[in-house]
Parts: sequence; C-alpha cells; structure tokens
Amino acid sequence: MTLAQRYDGIIGWFSENMASADTELHFDNPYQLLVAVILSAQCTDKRVNLTTPALFERFPTPHDMAQASAEQIFPYIRSISYPNNKAKNLAAMARMLCDEFGGEVPSDIEQMMRLPGVGRKTANVIGAVVWGKEVMPVDTHVFRVAARIGLVRGAKTPRQTELQLERHIPSHLLPVAHHWLILHGRYVCTARSPKCDKCGIREWCASQGKLASTAQNRKVATARRTKIDTTKPESNTVKPTANRRSTR
Ligand code: SF4
Repeated sequence: MTLAQRYDGIIGWFSENMASADTELHFDNPYQLLVAVILSAQCTDKRVNLTTPALFERFPTPHDMAQASAEQIFPYIRSISYPNNKAKNLAAMARMLCDEFGGEVPSDIEQMMRLPGVGRKTANVIGAVVWGKEVMPVDTHVFRVAARIGLVRGAKTPRQTELQLERHIPSHLLPVAHHWLILHGRYVCTARSPKCDKCGIREWCASQGKLASTAQNRKVATARRTKIDTTKPESNTVKPTANRRSTR
C-alpha cells in the first residue's frame, strides 16, 4: 500500500463516519477554551470539564482572572495535574491577555504562543477550534496514533509529526482531522490495548496485525490469570463519539 492510498482510505473513512468531530472540552468563548486547553496538559478532558464550571464562575472574564494571584486561582484547579504551575500560568496569561491584547484571545498563532502556558499545540487547538485555521495540533494521542497507523514516518518530535500530517492531509480538513486522531487514540487506538478487531480504519493501518496479536496475547494472559473465557470473537466496528462543542 502506498502512503497516498493509506491517507486516502483513512481520510475517507473518517470523513464518512466522523464528519463533525469536535473537542470534548466544555467552553462558551475563546477565553474559556484557552483556559481549558492550558489545564488539559497531562490531564484528561473529563477532569478539566469537572473543574472549569467553578473556575469560570469565579473568574468569568480575563479581566477577573488578571486581578487574581496564582494562590487565589489554585484552590479551583487543585484536582488538576500540576496545579501550582498551571495557576501561575493562568494568572500570568490573563494579565498579558488584558495588558497586550485588550482582553481578547489573539487569532494569530505566533501571538498566542507568547502567552504564558501556551505552546504550539495549545495555540493550534485554539486556532483550529475557534477560527477554523488550517493547522494540525499534535498532542500525545495524535503523536502516537499517526506513527502507529503509518501516516507519519520517523518523526521524533510533535513538530515533525505536525509538518508531515499537514503535507498530506488536505488543508480544509486539518481543523477536523486532529479531532479524528485524538478521538481515535482516546477510544479505539488506545496506547496499551488498541481495539484493532473493532477498528474502522484497520485495513489501512500499518500496525494492525502486529498490535492485534499483541493485544490478544495480553488478553489471553490476563484471562489465564483470572480464568475468563476469551474464546468468543469480538465484532462490531467502533466509531469514536464525535461530540459537539460545549455541552454546558
Ligand atoms: S488497527 Fe489497531 S493499531 Fe491500527 S489504528 Fe486501528 S486500533 Fe490502532
């Protein structure tokens, strides 16, 4: 299979089955999404969504957060990973947002990356989700899944993955394509137990045979330990949930 055939097959499947994929973070405006994405580093979207309602109620605008210290923000995000650093970043980010951007999240990726706590991935997420920019945010799921499927070859950094994906995926699909890979990595092609036997894109995947047998071996070993019958074949293609924007 050529690389072009692999991309064509996978893009075709996702276009048909997950046309409206979107972020699972809850937000009502660009400021809230920016805060949520900063909080989501090394943390699940589910945990972030449990945390942000109280945070946004206390700090409804960038101006409210800009007046707060990190110590005042900390109690609202204490259940998130790295709360100390994130509280400092949120306070500093909100101050810069107000001092230099009039309290509006900038649409320019490079300008966004000047904000404390905002790296390339975060800026690309905001750009893609809020403004539909033709960019490819690369998080841990995208980095892993793109290499595993064979869409990306030899990438050592998220930036290399980003550039390879942007070279092959039609520009107008980039804003939705990163959600395809994130959701696929989160619910089907998981890090430790990819569900290859239920995967809709397995016929184009470079790893499916190898990983399927690895996963099956792990399952059999687990079953032997727990005496569970694994002889029943599994079926049904899994289609990751394509959630719509904010459900708040
Ligand atoms: S076939 Fe397996 S390894 Fe390939 S994308 Fe699907 S779940 Fe991942």
